[in-house]
Order: sequence, then structure tokens, then C-alpha cells
Amino acid sequence: MGVTDGVISSIAPTRPGTDDSGTEDSGTEDSGTGETGAGGTGMWLVPGLLDLQVNGYAGVDFNDGHLEAAGVGQVVHAEWQLGAPAICPTLITGPEERILDALAVIAAARRSDPMLRHAIPCVHVEGPHLSTEEGPRGAHDPAFLRPPDINELARWQRAAEGAVGIVTIAPELPGALDYIKAAVAQGVVVSLGHSAATREQITAAADAGAALSTHLGNGCALLLPRHDNQLWPQLADDRLAAGFIADGHHLPADMFVAMTRAKGVDRSVLISDSVALAGSPPGRYRTAVGGAVELSPSQRLSLAGSEGKLLAGSVSSLTQCLSWAIDIAGLAPVVAFQMATANPWRVLAGGAMAAEALGRGALRIGAPADLSLFQHDPRSGWIEARAVLVAGVPVLAGHPYAGKGPEGPHVAKPGVTADRSIGGRSK
Ligand SMILES: [Zn+2]
Repeated sequence: MGVTDGVISSIAPTRPGTDDSGTEDSGTEDSGTGETGAGGTGMWLVPGLLDLQVNGYAGVDFNDGHLEAAGVGQVVHAEWQLGAPAICPTLITGPEERILDALAVIAAARRSDPMLRHAIPCVHVEGPHLSTEEGPRGAHDPAFLRPPDINELARWQRAAEGAVGIVTIAPELPGALDYIKAAVAQGVVVSLGHSAATREQITAAADAGAALSTHLGNGCALLLPRHDNQLWPQLADDRLAAGFIADGHHLPADMFVAMTRAKGVDRSVLISDSVALAGSPPGRYRTAVGGAVELSPSQRLSLAGSEGKLLAGSVSSLTQCLSWAIDIAGLAPVVAFQMATANPWRVLAGGAMAAEALGRGALRIGAPADLSLFQHDPRSGWIEARAVLVAGVPVLAGHPYAGKGPEGPHVAKPGVTADRSIGGRSK
């Protein structure tokens, strides 16, 4: 594979014995995350990971009211080290001033550095138009929940210099349908979440243009009626893609597998929903997300006093989520990678960010050279980034291909491999 001026300029089949140390030999024929399998030892070259939901990372919290441009860069650089070239910073429920301030800081960071702009295709605002019911509202501060207001969206966009690309709302709130129509008309992707919506309300929201479910299976009541609940209509409606938090705590593996099968390979998106505490030791902390939280030794982050039941975000990166999806949930690697690359970009391409999203998350000539080379450790089950290119620029310390195996990297080429089965442990 060749890279010129930040874009993929050539792709050629692997020639056995070739050692092209300048750029990677990409083996389009053995595109084989499917054949390498979860227990393999191969290297996987994947295009353009994108995490649609990142509240913070590495000690930086996009929502603590103290965000600075340097912090935005810090999160992006941390994500690059983990193998994710792009993220959508996610702002949650809070006073409007705090949301506007954070949007302005992110906008300034994007303006100041073309690489940051490339790494942050848009911002996701999750809230404040969410359910006030206990359970559905999750960790969102009830003091700042409010009904949908399209004028507030306009103020967000002014502060963000137009970079708000996704808004999560609860579709049952008064005025939600008009809000969805107006937001979609402006090119914003509307996602449904933290909701107690009925089947009819979900269908009406999709009719109005909603295109995504936010962390499906979370942000809803702890107990749901078996037939008449919000999961089935969101799974069954092909107009809705769905994000899934694949951190091993938010969804049991069998539920995750069953839901991604129902949603389909092309409409399922892996997200981390990571928070600033990612990478911190177990203990009690105070966060902007929901006040006092507890991080357990098993890396489960929940509201203090909820006995681990009310989760307060994840402390996993998207790369760790991929490890879990492949090694614990048993997704074929090519399927898991598609859910973290091509699919999230396709979600963005449905909105005004289309121009920035088109062609990304794909291994094809002319696409931006956002490439991550992952190595799978069959003993630990983890995958680790060995090389990461962002717009053609190597962003990991050391030799970019130091970890290249003797067979050369396998290529996870979303959507073209024969093995598109989803999960399960029978394989
Ligand atoms: Zn949430």
C-alpha cells in the first residue's frame, strides 16, 4: 500500500517474501481477520477507527467545566496511541454555559490545528433533552435536564463553528419530533437515548429523521416489559443504526451478540463511551458526569451507592472494546472492525459532516490514510496498536512498523470478506 500526501495512493496484493519497510504490504487477498480468527497471531491493518462517543480520556474530562484546547489535544493524542485516529468528543447534560464553553474550546482546537480538525470530525452532544425518569436518565444530572429547544441547538452551533454533528435526545419529550425534523434538516444526526419512549414514539422519531440509537441496551429502565419495550422497535427499525458500548460491563456478551445480530453487521457501531477516569486505579471519585462514582477493580464504573447497577460511563478505549468484542463476545475480527470503522463514518455521512466523512473508514485509493496496524496477543486476548497513521502521518513513538510480523499485516477490509458471521462461541 502506498500513501501520498496523506491519502492512500496505491493498494497491491501481498507478494510472498516482500519486505517493504517503507510502507506496509497490505495483503488484500488474505484480508483475513476472518481467517486469522480471534486466536490468531496476525497483524491487522484497519482503516480509520472512529469512536462516536468519548466523554474524556487520560484525565481530561470534556464536561468538567475546565476544558482547555490543550486538553482536547491530549485526548486526541492518547486516542492515537491506542489506535483510534478519530473521535467525536461528547458533551453531556449540563448548564448551557458549560456546553457552550466546551464547544467553543473544541472549535478553537480544531481551528488551530488541521490534524485535530481531521481527528475530530464533529462533536456529539448527549443531552440535555433526555428523560427525567430514574434509570433512563442514567448518570445525567436531573437539575439540568430540559425539553428540546431548537434555538439552543443554534447557539451550540454558533459556539462550535458548526461542528455539532450528533445530538442524542429522548424522543418522548414534548416538542421532540419537531426538534428532530429541524435538526436533521440542518444536517445534524439525531440519535435516540436515555429514553423511556414507547414503540410508537420511537417509530415517530425515525419517521422524523432520527438515524441512530445511542448505546442501545443502556440508558433505559433497569426492568423492561418483555414484549412492549423500547429495545425491540429500535432493533427492528432499519432506519436506525445503533451504538453499543463494548466494554464488557455495559452489555453482557450474549446480549451484545444477539443485539448486533438483530441490528445487522452494517448498522452496528462499537463505541467506548469512555470517561476521564479511563486508566485510573480503582477507587471513589467525583466527576462532572454524575457526582460520586466508584471504579471497581474489574474496571466497572458506576454511581456510588448503586451497588454497581447504575453505570457512569466506561473506562475502556475503543481498542479495548474491540478486544472484548473479538475475544469475549466472539465476533469475527473483520466484523468487529467494520463496526468501529466504516459503520461510524457511514453514520456521520448521513448528516452535514458528509463531506468530511465520505471515503473515511475505508481501505481504498483516494481515502485519507488513517490506518492502524494492530497486533493480537493470543495469550492476553488484547489487541494493541503497533503503528498508526493519521492523514498519512505516523503518530506512534518509535519505528512505525516495529511490530510487523513475518507474514506481514493482515487486512481487515470491512464489508468484503466472506466471513460476516456475528459472534457466538461455537466457531
Ligand atoms: Zn449515555
